[in-house]
Amino acid sequence: MINPQDSCSEHSSPILAKNVTEFPDISAKYKASSFNIYVKAKGGNYLIFNTMTGALAHIAGDKYTHLAGLLKNPNSFGRENEEEKLFLKSALKAGFIIDDKTNELEMLKMISFAGRFTSEHFHLTIMPTLQCNFACTYCYEKPRPGIMRPEVRQALIKWAEMKVKTSNLFSVAWFGGEPLLAHGCIRELSSNFIGLCARKMLSIGPELPQMDIL
Ligand code: SF4
Repeated sequence: MINPQDSCSEHSSPILAKNVTEFPDISAKYKASSFNIYVKAKGGNYLIFNTMTGALAHIAGDKYTHLAGLLKNPNSFGRENEEEKLFLKSALKAGFIIDDKTNELEMLKMISFAGRFTSEHFHLTIMPTLQCNFACTYCYEKPRPGIMRPEVRQALIKWAEMKVKTSNLFSVAWFGGEPLLAHGCIRELSSNFIGLCARKMLSIGPELPQMDIL
């Protein structure tokens, strides 16, 4: 195993981040997170990923059986074993192990609702075109020619102007079809959104799907 302090990445969600600075209560009841995924990596090592917190641990092959066993049965941690206590602290911080009373499904719902109903973060998913240059077998979209009309773009800009008045963060995800087939539309809308955010001193975060190839 690499240093347990370094084995877990930082959390992606501030709601999930735990400030575990003291050694955890070894006598408390814990359970493994339902969101842990165990994957065999190259060289006989293993990766453990938590899909809720985004934490990733790299475990050396010769330590895997022991440490994965501890994660799967957290109440078997040795009370006098310093290395195991350190690992427990790190695993709690990363969300691989949680308090026995924690209901992860309810937590997930709360995060989802908080994101959906907050007025501070204004998020737009924009489909500038339904055209696509791929033919993925799993695709459920119906490719259609055409690009978002200028009057729709203008309406979108006006609506964004109104919405950012009460927001602290504005983010945009470009979706399709293949959004980059409408790169002129993306440029036009982006430069308007960036100008809008600059005037309002807002942060802007653009997102593109990972498959874009043009
Ligand atoms: S890239 Fe997206 S839109 Fe295009 S075919 Fe694949 S899944 Fe469908």
